Amino acid sequence: MTAVWSEKQAAIETGQMTIEKFIDGLYGEVSRLVESADINISATENQTPKTSLDRLTVKCPSCNSDLVMTAKACNCIGCKFRIRLELRGKKLTSKQIETIISKGKSSEIKGFKSKKNDSTYSMFVTLANKETGELGFEYPPRDDSQSSKKPSTKNMSRELKS
Ligand SMILES: [Zn+2]
Repeated sequence: MTAVWSEKQAAIETGQMTIEKFIDGLYGEVSRLVESADINISATENQTPKTSLDRLTVKCPSCNSDLVMTAKACNCIGCKFRIRLELRGKKLTSKQIETIISKGKSSEIKGFKSKKNDSTYSMFVTLANKETGELGFEYPPRDDSQSSKKPSTKNMSRELKS
C-alpha cells in the first residue's frame, strides 16, 4: 500500500494526477480501513475473556461505583470503600459480601474461630460504615442462655409482689 501511495505521490509531482484525485483515493482507502477495523474490534470484544477480577452484582453503597473482588478484599474502584475478606479466622465469600452490602446484614455465618479456645461460633456480619466498608457484628441469641429467661422471671416476681 505504501508503494502504491508513493507512486501516486510521484504521479502528483509529475502532474499526471491531481491532488483532489489523490485525496479521494485516500478517503476511500481510509474508510475501507475503518470498516475492516470496526469488524475486528467487535470480534475481539466478543472473544474477550472475563477479567480475573470478579465484579460484584451490587454497587458501592458510598459512591455507586463497581466493586471488585481481590484475593484479600472487596474494593471499590471509585472510592476508599473496602471490605476485608479475612474475618476472625474465616474468609467471607463474594455472595456474603453482596448480601451484607445490599441488605446491610448477612445471614447467620458459621465457622468464626473463638480466640479463647478452639471452638467456632456463628454470627451476623453487618455493614457498620457505608463509606469505609467497616464491618460490624451481631451475635445470634443463644438457645441455652439464661439471659432470655431472666426478664420473664423478673416480671413474675414483680407480679407476685404487687
Ligand atoms: Zn465507592
